Amino acid sequence: MDLKFDQKHIWHPYTSTINPLTCYPVMSANGVEIQLETGEVLVDGMSSWWSTIHGYNHPHLNQAAHTQIDKVSHIMFGGITHQPAIDLCKKLIQLTPTRLQHVFLADSGSVAVEVSLKMALQYWHAKGEPRSKFLTLRDGYHGDTFAAMSVTDPDNSMHSLYKGFLPEHIFADSPKTGYWQDWDDADIVDFKKKITKNHNQIAAVILEPIVQGAGGMRIYHPEFLRQVRALCDEFNVLLILDEIATGFGRTGKLFACEHADIQPDILCLGKAITGGYMTLSATLTTKVVADTVCGGDAGCFMHGPTFMGNPLACAVANASMELIETGDWQKQTAMIESLFAKKLPELNIYELVQDTRWLGAIGVIETKKAVNMEVIQKFFVDNGVWIRPFGKLIYIMPPFISEPEQVSKLIEVIEKALQNEACFI
Ligand SMILES: *Cc1c(COP(=O)(O)O)cnc(C)c1O
Repeated sequence: MDLKFDQKHIWHPYTSTINPLTCYPVMSANGVEIQLETGEVLVDGMSSWWSTIHGYNHPHLNQAAHTQIDKVSHIMFGGITHQPAIDLCKKLIQLTPTRLQHVFLADSGSVAVEVSLKMALQYWHAKGEPRSKFLTLRDGYHGDTFAAMSVTDPDNSMHSLYKGFLPEHIFADSPKTGYWQDWDDADIVDFKKKITKNHNQIAAVILEPIVQGAGGMRIYHPEFLRQVRALCDEFNVLLILDEIATGFGRTGKLFACEHADIQPDILCLGKAITGGYMTLSATLTTKVVADTVCGGDAGCFMHGPTFMGNPLACAVANASMELIETGDWQKQTAMIESLFAKKLPELNIYELVQDTRWLGAIGVIETKKAVNMEVIQKFFVDNGVWIRPFGKLIYIMPPFISEPEQVSKLIEVIEKALQNEACFI
């Protein structure tokens, strides 16, 4: 591959044109293995950012794509509908919390978040009590488009760069009590204070349930979420749950909100929805919210992406839902979780390790020093794994179909990296 061209002209996620690091050329990927052009075979520890839960090149998903592409790969969704979208929305309504009855399909996670925020704004506008603020948590991540960024952690997403343009929302302290620790009521104090003070202005609370992903890989106590739901009810504020990362089994439950036994008013899904095959997202809401939105001045929900409801993506998503319905993900994520529970605490003996945490098929090693990205990336590739850390976080979220030996290998290579000073700054 022309890696020089790549390096010189192509932007990869969060990269510099002045000092671009080399990318690794992928030829193909099968199951849990990624084949590089240079011959190495890597065990995947990332699921391509939470998405390829059933592994790469899955025969059932491939078949669904092949079958659908011979019928119609894309057609506009305005005034037209099709079986793949109907099947998918039926399935989403069936799998997600019972209150959610209306589905808006879009093309990426960030757009699903934009859609959720617009729904909340239109809801209050239609009720004749316009509200324009959102309450969210520090250390959160909701995407890279502007509205999504405005509710993402202000430091992590450099709000200072966009000052004057980016709307300013309300941030409460993120919970400190870990999933497996004893609940501490102090955790909810700041959130409670902020919702109590500002509820008349707040259109919705938006947060990632149980696991804060790209903003810091924090795994928090379900009681926080239960209390958030209760406070939203008490103060009449909508609750948006962003399950773009956690949805479809990643935390060991089908949806992370099930850990707290609560339901949102609006739910954002993406990432694993097509088993990582292509980009698709969904925003679900209740009949009350949907009908209120559509009863307002606009008479409809004001959004409609060109590739809305893409039949090819919906067909593959349906095949992924069929794999989920076999229930195998429950055994698989439980196996991965038990390996994490056994092996990650053993890494705490290293001076470099600040904390280890896990839930379902998510394992996190927080270090005291930041990684040297170039060195550690090469170290991982040389040792036969694909893991992409950031800052002080080395985290893995393997495909659910991973064998115990493959998960163990990921942890062993991380342990080797912890013994190698050159991997850290
Ligand atoms: C990845 C992510 C998004 C953004 O999704 P994109 O498909 O990258 O736009 C939003 N919220 C959460 C929680 C995510 O993990």
